[in-house]
Amino acid sequence: MKAIVATSHGAHQVGWGDVPTPSDPGPGQVILKVQAVGVCGSDLHVYHGTESFPMRYPVALGHEMTGSIVAVGPGVKGWSIGDRVVSETAYQVCGTCLLCRQGQYNLCPDRLGFGALVDGGMAEYVLTRAAILHRVPEGVDEVSAAMTEPTSVAFHGLTVNTEITPGDSVVVIGPGPVGLMAVQVASLYSPRQLAVIGTAMDVPRLALARKLGADAVYEDSDSALTALKTAGFGIGADVVIDAAGVSSTLQLALELVRPGGQITKIGWGPQALQFSLDPLVAKAVRLRGSFSHHWETWERVLALMALAKLTPAVIAEAYPWQSWQTAFEDMGSHRIGKAVMVL
Ligand SMILES: [Zn+2]
Ligand SMILES: [Zn+2]
Repeated sequence: MKAIVATSHGAHQVGWGDVPTPSDPGPGQVILKVQAVGVCGSDLHVYHGTESFPMRYPVALGHEMTGSIVAVGPGVKGWSIGDRVVSETAYQVCGTCLLCRQGQYNLCPDRLGFGALVDGGMAEYVLTRAAILHRVPEGVDEVSAAMTEPTSVAFHGLTVNTEITPGDSVVVIGPGPVGLMAVQVASLYSPRQLAVIGTAMDVPRLALARKLGADAVYEDSDSALTALKTAGFGIGADVVIDAAGVSSTLQLALELVRPGGQITKIGWGPQALQFSLDPLVAKAVRLRGSFSHHWETWERVLALMALAKLTPAVIAEAYPWQSWQTAFEDMGSHRIGKAVMVL
């Protein structure tokens, strides 16, 4: 079948390719006909040969897919052909390690992610598991449905890995798709202040941040630091969500956060750091990483999308998948919030 395939490590080793069409789903498995798939920052990293996670080649890219069920394997209950669904991002987890048993299967060491180690959703069909499917509510279109995954990354970061209290001063660093959705999730907590920091390149995305509830946006970190020094209780931000795709923004986060405050790092990048962590100690800051999401997060996100309390389509731009290269380039230019390809 037709797919957007990464053939080897390196810049621009991505293009149209042919991968085996899934047939005969095994026990617990289903096959989806893909209807829409988002372009993730990680897909862009593969496109530019800058990814820092393991890959298997050749592989169909994409892990933010929605579609309808076309085949159901033995033992699958509660799902039928024709159901509109979204699939979580791990083709396989071990099911027996501590983390799987605790329900934190997103952290399973044997996790096989779509679009990296297993053929993903930038293909006509995808083979997945019934255990990680979620029903797309009536009234949620395919572009919004394809946004469930990045929205869940943001939602998990704020609701599971951060303790936010109404009236907090919240700062989001990095207005990429996850940062933008973090703004909307933060706004559900009635913050007293909700600021977003980007770069001069992010002007269109900062405008989207305002639409999603930000009350102040900054195109550079110096002006943000000056303005936010007295945020919240007059001593800096209660909560900093670092959603930038680099490690170095942690330094900015440490300057912005108040003593006793929290930093949640969702965005990542492989570069080494060149600064002291003394402020982390001196301010007794709680720093926490957040990776991926789990079943409950997806269900909550879809429920809030059905109620239009989360509206990820606001930041999405739809492309026919024939124009995949334009979708990738537009994402890379920060001109748009999020590219979703429609098949
Ligand atoms: Zn993603
Ligand atoms: Zn496991």
